[in-house]
Amino acid sequence: MSILKVSRLGHPVLRMESKRVSPETLASPVIQTLIDNMMETMVEYIGVGLAAPQVHESLAIAVIESHGGRGDIPMTVIVNPEVTVLDEELIEDWEGCLSIPDFRGRVPRWRKLRVNALDRHGKKIQITAEGFFARVIQHEFDHLMGKVYLDRMPDLKTLSHLAEFQRYWLPQDKE
Ligand SMILES: [Zn+2]
Repeated sequence: MSILKVSRLGHPVLRMESKRVSPETLASPVIQTLIDNMMETMVEYIGVGLAAPQVHESLAIAVIESHGGRGDIPMTVIVNPEVTVLDEELIEDWEGCLSIPDFRGRVPRWRKLRVNALDRHGKKIQITAEGFFARVIQHEFDHLMGKVYLDRMPDLKTLSHLAEFQRYWLPQDKE
């Protein structure tokens, strides 16, 4: 496995709509290796999600995993995801992105949703997610649509460098 180079904001691949992946292509060693490498890259950079455009591949594949912190999510691979919103209430919380290093901003996201997708073996899966898991899915789904979290911020006043986020914003969130 290898750690892949992460594309950063400004690279056109982050603004393209990703191509869907056929089951045959998904089964190929090239794509299976890509998925392994995406997992390793996400873990290396301490992300909770990584979409294929973030490693310069315009394909509708994302990996998600989180331990502790804001919630536990087992390693999840979603291919060709389709999202149905189950609760349109918008919850605002902080997000960051490996493609926009060392920034944080508050982003409203739907509370609850359902995802229909393929897993890495081409099997149909359905995931119902809420809260933090739903947030991560929306963030990664956006990447596959050529969007980043900045596009979802109603205003940019909370956009902060990481050090300033930790100094001025984080203490207020700790209760
Ligand atoms: Zn991101």
